[in-house]
Parts: sequence; C-alpha cells; structure tokens
Amino acid sequence: MATQIKTVGVVGMGTMGAGIAEVLARTGHDVVAVEVDAHGVTRGRGHLEHSTARALERGKLDETARRELLDRISFTTELADLADADLVIEAVPERLDLKSRIFTELDGIVRSDVMLASNTSSLSITQLAVQTKRPDKVVGMHFFNPAPVLKLVEVVRTVVTDPEVISAVTELAHSLGKTPVVVGDRAGFIANGLLFGYLNHAARMVEERYATRENLDAAMRYGCGYPMGPLALLDLIGLDTAYEILDALYRQSRDRRHAPVPLLKQMITAGLLGRKSGRGFYTYAAQDSSTVVPDAATPSDGESGVQTRPIGTVGVVGTGTMATGIVEVLVKGGHDVIVRGRSNSRTQDAVVAITRSLDKAVNRGKLSESDRDAALGRISTTTSLDDFASVDLVVEAVAEELDVKRGIFATLDEVCKPGAILATTTSSLPVVECSAATARPGDVVGMHFFNPAPVMKLVEVVATISTTADVVATAGQLARSWGKVPVTCGDRAGFIVNALLFPYLNDAVRMLEAHYASAEDIDTAMEVGAALPMGPFALLDVVGLDVSLAIQRRLYQEFREPGFAPAPLLEHLVTAGLLGRKTRKGFRDYS
Ligand code: NAD
Repeated sequence: MATQIKTVGVVGMGTMGAGIAEVLARTGHDVVAVEVDAHGVTRGRGHLEHSTARALERGKLDETARRELLDRISFTTELADLADADLVIEAVPERLDLKSRIFTELDGIVRSDVMLASNTSSLSITQLAVQTKRPDKVVGMHFFNPAPVLKLVEVVRTVVTDPEVISAVTELAHSLGKTPVVVGDRAGFIANGLLFGYLNHAARMVEERYATRENLDAAMRYGCGYPMGPLALLDLIGLDTAYEILDALYRQSRDRRHAPVPLLKQMITAGLLGRKSGRGFYTYAAQDSSTVVPDAATPSDGESGVQTRPIGTVGVVGTGTMATGIVEVLVKGGHDVIVRGRSNSRTQDAVVAITRSLDKAVNRGKLSESDRDAALGRISTTTSLDDFASVDLVVEAVAEELDVKRGIFATLDEVCKPGAILATTTSSLPVVECSAATARPGDVVGMHFFNPAPVMKLVEVVATISTTADVVATAGQLARSWGKVPVTCGDRAGFIVNALLFPYLNDAVRMLEAHYASAEDIDTAMEVGAALPMGPFALLDVVGLDVSLAIQRRLYQEFREPGFAPAPLLEHLVTAGLLGRKTRKGFRDYS
C-alpha cells in the first residue's frame, strides 16, 4: 500500500484498546484514542499509566521513553477527530450492532484509501465490511490479551479484502514486533475457535461442582504447563467478553460445547466480570488488579480436619515407565517400597532404570550421593503380590487393561492388611471398576500421576462414589509430602486434565481437516497467542496419535457428546500407522 502508516486511530480504550495503543506508540506511531465519554478517557489513561509504570519497574522502558510513549497518545470522545488517521483499529465491546454503527460512521470520516481494522474476537469481519463503502479495505487485526506482551496477531481476510491490504497489515504487525498469521473469516478464528470450547468446558466443571476453581486451574498449570488455568484466564479475558465470544461461536458452529454455560450469564448479571470488576471466578484486591485475595470459597490452609492414615511402606505393582517413575518419587519421599513385577528380569530392569535416573540427578547436582544410596536402599523387589501383606499403600501402575487391573485389585483385597489404601494410576479407566473388584471399596482411590512422574508436579486424586474422606485426604497429603500438587476430582473419563485437553486437540485436528489453517499456523497461534508450551499438533505427535485417539474415544463413549467424536483424520493417521514421534511421522515428519 502506498500510504505510510503514521497516525493510527484506536476506538475503545478498554483492556484491549489501551494495550494496542501502547504497542503502536512504543513503535513511534501517533495514536488518537477515542472513548465513549470522559469517564472512558480517564479509565483508558489509567490503563496506560498502569501498564507503562509496570514496564518501567521491570526495566523494559526508561522514564523518558515512557513519557514520549504517553505523549504520542491523544484522547478524544469524537470519532470525527480521526479524519487524519492512516489506519483505524476498533476495539469496542463485542457487539455487532455497536461495531457496525462505528464502521459506518468511520467510513464517512476517514480518507477513502484508509484501512479499517477490527479487533473483534469472534464477530464476522465480512458483516462489518459491508457496513462501509470500502469493504475491500476492511480487515481483522486480532491482538491477544495483554496486547503489549503477547505476540500473535490474527490478520483476518474476508472474501472481498484487497490482498494489498492484507500485505500492509501483515507488514505493520511485523514492524510492531508481532507474529501475524493470516486466516479466513470464521467465528473465533484459530486461537479462540480452539480455546473457548475448553474454557466453557472448565466453567461447566465448576458449575457441576466436578472440581473446585483452584483444583481446575492447578490441574492445567501443573499437568500441561499452561501459564494460567482456564478460570483465571476467563477472569483475565472478562466474563462478558467471553460470553459474547462463545455466543458468536455457537451461532456459527451450532456446537453445544460453545453454548455459554448458564453460570457465566449468572455471574455477568451479578456484575462478576472478572479482573476488570474486581471479582469473577476469583476475588481480586481491586478493580483491574491481578492480585487474588481470599474469599469465602478459598480453601483453608492445611488439612480438612479429617484424620489421615499413617503411610510407611508402599507396594508398587508394575515395572513400566509410570511404575518406575512413581517408585523414584516414593523412595525420594522416604518410603520403603516393594516393587512387584511379573518376572525377576522385569523388576531388575526397573531397578536399573531408577538407578540411572537417580544417577542423573546426582550428576546434575540435584541429589547427593548419600541420598541416592539411601533411596536405592529403600527398594526391594518381588514377583508375588503376597509380599504386600503389611504395606500401608499400594500404587497399581500396570497396563491400561481393565481385566488385568481388576484381577490385581481382587488379589490385593485378599492379601493386604485391613486399612491399607489401594490406589490405581489409571488415566482412562473408571476407578470404581477397580474398587468393585474388592470388598473394601472405601479404601480404593485413583492417584493419576503424569509422565515423567519424577518431574511432573500434578497428581489427580480421584474419589469414586465409595472412597472414604480419610483416604482422599491421605492421598492428597502424601502427594504434597512428595512435593507434588494434588487436585481432587470425581471418577469421570479423563478426570480433569485429559477431559479438558483432548477435546481441544481433537478440535485442532478438525480445523486442519477443514483446511481452515495449516498445522504450522495453528501451532503458532496457540503457542504465541495463548502462550501454551506446545501447539496442538506438536503435542499430539509427542503423546502419540494412538494414545490420543484412545483417550478421545473413551471421552466420547462416556459423555456421548457429539463434539467429542474423534476427528476422522486422527483415525486415518492411526490406521495408517503414523503415530507421531515414535514412528517418525504423524502430523509432521521427524527424521
Ligand atoms: P472492554 O470492555 O475492556 O473495553 C471496551 C471499551 O470500549 C470500553 O472502555 C468502552 O468504554 C469503550 N467503548 C464503548 N463504546 C464505545 C464507543 N461507541 N466509542 C468508543 N469507545 C467505546 O473490552 P475489551 O476486552 O477491550 O474488548 C474490546 C474488543 O477486543 C472486543 O471486540 C473483544 O472481543 C476484543 N478482544 C478482547 C480480548 C480480551 O482478552 N479481552 C482479546 C482480544 C480481542
């Protein structure tokens, strides 16, 4: 495009508009910021003062640069003041009527060659484009929250956008230090299209009291390495904005997983909008504050008051990856452990694997030699479950086969002393199946570790309808004593993490299958826009497509949710033997 973009109009100086204005001013653009009234101006200024003060504190800006940045932004309450703008970015609330009106007005104010961009998260850019006499110059420029930090910008083209406009906006995004990804005009684009089903699902879990807000958020942080949990993220996004986005997604997808859960509406009606109102799923120190303060729902420190059971010696059934990892956690935690394998050679291999892992920790300076020797000294091995007669806890970690597990639990029931806790680390079978194989269902609990067990902090403590409160409390307290983060949840397929994670991964496969975006662009959008440690395809290839498909099938079978049906492309890749990294080919090639 011929015009140089010097002066940019930003309409709406809320959460996003203020962030966008800051990004523009930081890179030398003059910004004319439009708000609805004087109060809006004061708030917009406040956002900028606050955000740049934080950048100053963190040494990312000096005082002069901050002053210059703020001086480049002027405020007005009149759209007419945008007459000289070279580009306008709209960031008013997510309502089509409001945005349409603003686009029509802007069309009559700015020069005819000027591009008009919307920061909408979910509304149709095409609908906005047709409100103007320049539909070819209307584009989506979707920044992520917080705009000064997150680098993704989804550049949205419609069927009538001039390709030169796309190039110009892409170039601008690069010059702002952002990573642009060009996408078509579909509700939610890439990132929100994938993220909001997951966020709504998490809100539904709270509504159903399946898990507490703290447990849900901790599960995704410690189980998946996400920078924040889904409910904290909803509070950051703003529940009203999230509602509008879900509503728009639902209208287009007719996927009931996008239908905003009633709890969101209730919270919005009660004024609980998240950080911006000082209260949402959590309570904050003040409006617009990120500091969470305790409220009535905050769990009290320490134990629940339930008497826990003393746990000394532990029996571990199994010698595979999870079993050896769990033995390592246990012996480091000071327990004597009896490992039961199907043969002496298997138990010996397990001990070798644990020794190797502990040696590594010594080499990295994370463990002293004497602690390693003491830990190894706590391990004994057997091939018979009869040796578990006096253990206080058993952790079963054998193959994910129901009959095998049930057989083991039936034997444990005969062998173990009364009061011993029997735990399974199954990731997808119902824990109650194990408990039903015993005559002591109250003592059976799920303890779902994540791979690699010595590294991953999360343990999902799964209570069946029969598990007693002291068994749940003991499992939680034990996990904490090993330096883990326990979360409690009910006995449903996928527990918390897999139930929230895999449908999202499956949705990404469907998006790819629909040719909406490439695997690379989808991974970039989720890594850069949502700050996830890995994009969905990179993660699927690591987990293994066969394992992922099995989990997705289990979720579908249990919930009969049409949206959980495995994506045909995932099925086909598995049938073709392309399972991800382990076969060097999955969604990507690995040589
Ligand atoms: P917000 O409620 O924080 O801010 C909206 C601002 O627009 C308010 O300050 C309001 O006073 C102002 N406004 C309302 N009517 C106006 C008018 N007629 N003229 C000028 N200003 C007006 O909302 P937000 O979270 O900043 O969202 C803005 C847009 O950005 C929405 O389209 C949203 O979907 C999108 N978005 C939001 C996020 C997010 O995480 N919050 C991320 C990306 C994109």
